[in-house]
Amino acid sequence: MSYVIEGSTGAWEVVIGLEVHAQVVSQAKLFSGAATAFGAEPNTQVSFVDAAFPGMLPVINRECVAQAVRTGLGLGAHINLVSRFDRKNYFYADLPPGYQISQYQHPIVGAGVIEIELGDGSTKSIGVTRLHLEQDAGKSLHDQHPTKSYIDLNRAGVALMEIVSEPDLRSPEEAGAYLRKLRTILRYLGTCDGNMEEGSMRADVNVSVRRHGEPFRTRCEVKNVNSVRFVMQAIEVEARRQVEIWEAGGAVDQETRLFDAARGITRSMRSKEEAHDYRYFPDPDLLPLVLDEAWVATLKAALPELPDAKRRRFMDEYGLPFYDSAVLVAEQATADFYETIARGRDAKLAANWVMGDLFAALNRTGRTIETSPVSAAALGALLDLMADNTINGRIAKEVFEAMVDTGEAPGAIVERKGLRQVTDTAAIDEAVTAVLAANPEKLAEYRSGKEKLFGFFVGQVMKAMAGKGNPALVNAALKRQLG
Ligand code: ADP
Ligand code: MG
Repeated sequence: MSYVIEGSTGAWEVVIGLEVHAQVVSQAKLFSGAATAFGAEPNTQVSFVDAAFPGMLPVINRECVAQAVRTGLGLGAHINLVSRFDRKNYFYADLPPGYQISQYQHPIVGAGVIEIELGDGSTKSIGVTRLHLEQDAGKSLHDQHPTKSYIDLNRAGVALMEIVSEPDLRSPEEAGAYLRKLRTILRYLGTCDGNMEEGSMRADVNVSVRRHGEPFRTRCEVKNVNSVRFVMQAIEVEARRQVEIWEAGGAVDQETRLFDAARGITRSMRSKEEAHDYRYFPDPDLLPLVLDEAWVATLKAALPELPDAKRRRFMDEYGLPFYDSAVLVAEQATADFYETIARGRDAKLAANWVMGDLFAALNRTGRTIETSPVSAAALGALLDLMADNTINGRIAKEVFEAMVDTGEAPGAIVERKGLRQVTDTAAIDEAVTAVLAANPEKLAEYRSGKEKLFGFFVGQVMKAMAGKGNPALVNAALKRQLG
């Protein structure tokens, strides 16, 4: 069931490698003390270094280095104790020095791996080639004035991690899973907030197509795609475009393209630039970056439990299926919320409630787990009311809806609305007798062998008891009276 593009001459496999730019969470920029907060007034977070005033010198921000190392460790990657900063030279109005400080031949982080989870429950390991630190550029604003372009340098010099994958991805779904998983890991680590809408994570998408078993063919790079959905769409349309070229007897040119989401196409931006076009050379203002092994070990020891480890623990400790565990660990806050409920309770039931009723309520009310109208403690208390037979599962749904609407505690709702489960066998017997008396035809059918009518009677008795009957006792009473 692997993904292929069906051309007019047969099936084509799609090969994808992603270069993700992830903005580092830090108070200050990579080589200056200017602030990095999102959404500030233009040009209010710019130091002389960012504006490239003559004689200004970069000073590396230790916290940005720590964030890159944490990320490398979180990706199970090799940490290079010696790395180096290079100048990548090009002219653009939003790049005052005329070069970007980046890492070319000696990145801070080497090879690692990301395990992705696919819809059919399988997993796949995707190689990470490298991670390097670099500066972001400023922003040109072309839509503020009829004849002028404006420049905002707030973003100039902000630290980015470029995380490059191996060409191991084979479908839009795999690319989407990779991005979501990378985002989850970065958020757990606290090294990037992963907000693609705010541009703090953007992807360059490299795509080629080939016949199964062939060597790789020429790729194109679709630049700066800013949502998971757009990455998946861009792969699909770009792969189809390439298939058509090859099938028409042409050849794909290696080039840089842009995804036009509104029109659902990619279009050429420029022919592919090569590394030598940038005249990379070691930045003479910066010494090689040398890390202390003990410092790296300290960072490693302080890493949080990461999503894969947490998922495995949820499976072992709570006996959850793979799927439930994967869903619950996707956001740290959801995992914490779940664990508060699951500890000491029916863990699978807790998972069902979080993934079912709670997620639905969050969707409906436009809330997140952090702003959930029902706290983990309150949902736990609701499960306790079921466990000690104060209410049955059906009434619990009703109580939960009231909790969402009013924020009241479940016990208070049960008392106020009189929703306690009826366990009085005399009252249940009475309801059963009444239902059987009111449905003589159904009763006759049941007696003549139509046994699936049992469910109908259960429903009628429950209805007669306003949903509050204890299901086990209702079943037992019905069996007794029918049999
Ligand atoms: P560059 O430095 O020119 O961008 P790289 O070799 O670093 O080139 O590759 C960049 C990205 O392109 C990587 O994510 C890699 O996995 C991907 N890639 C390389 N070859 C192919 C190919 N034939 N098809 C699809 N992706 C590829
Ligand atoms: Mg590249």
